[in-house]
Amino acid sequence: MRILVSNDDGIYSPGIAALAEVASEFGTVRVVAPDVERSSTGHAITASRPLSYRATNIKGLTAYRVNGTPADCVSLGAYHWEKVDAVLSGLNIGLNLGNSLGHSGTVAAAKQAALLGLRGIALSAPSGAEPDFEPFKPWIRRVLQLLLGDVRLPLVNVNFPRDPRGLMWARASVRRYDGRIVPVKDPAGRTLFWSTVVPIEDADAGTDRWAVEQNWISLTPLRLDPTDDAQLQDARDAWPLDDALAMAVSPGTSSPEAARSVRDDESEASLTKA
Ligand code: MN
Repeated sequence: MRILVSNDDGIYSPGIAALAEVASEFGTVRVVAPDVERSSTGHAITASRPLSYRATNIKGLTAYRVNGTPADCVSLGAYHWEKVDAVLSGLNIGLNLGNSLGHSGTVAAAKQAALLGLRGIALSAPSGAEPDFEPFKPWIRRVLQLLLGDVRLPLVNVNFPRDPRGLMWARASVRRYDGRIVPVKDPAGRTLFWSTVVPIEDADAGTDRWAVEQNWISLTPLRLDPTDDAQLQDARDAWPLDDALAMAVSPGTSSPEAARSVRDDESEASLTKA
């Protein structure tokens, strides 16, 4: 089994070393990760400059550091190493529960794997657990035994509590946040701002946040398509637009010209443009 390991904390994080070490029990491991910390960069890609891919060494494993985002690292890693079976992202220093699914670079790396048709697993540990990840290694091993061995899920987000009692499946605790700006003064007396978040609601039973609060390791299967199917149906019923006409007069499969035109419209850097 070929296992690509990435993260958003940077290639020299003790978390990625711990994860790669356990992963190497399950197959051949290659580490491809950002050269510096890229936490909270979400699913950003580096489209305005080229990327470099430089060999380094992580615990005797083949490793490459990239001047790009977590998603870039997964794309580049899969490009340079064909037939990757699974991508592991982490072990992040800091949990990625519920609302952090949007801005987490750790989760984005796993999502990038799923977008490439590979399996992606994001793994996050409590902030402050570093640098000693020894107590987590038996639990990481159990999670990988399950997710790399038996369960064929394309995309899973895993969070480890400080003192795990066991594993459970959990849904994402996506809550409203009091998205908070905190002003501070710089040395010259000018005001600067911290962008931060503060949870405002309690976690519901069965969610990842609740699971970790109760010291269970949470495993949350994710999907790439965030369409709200119930809302979509309600909207179609409540405000019928031109859907019926569009379905009636437009072919089920677009012409290559139409498909290419839209691809061009998506990006200035589209490779299909002359
Ligand atoms: Mn991180």
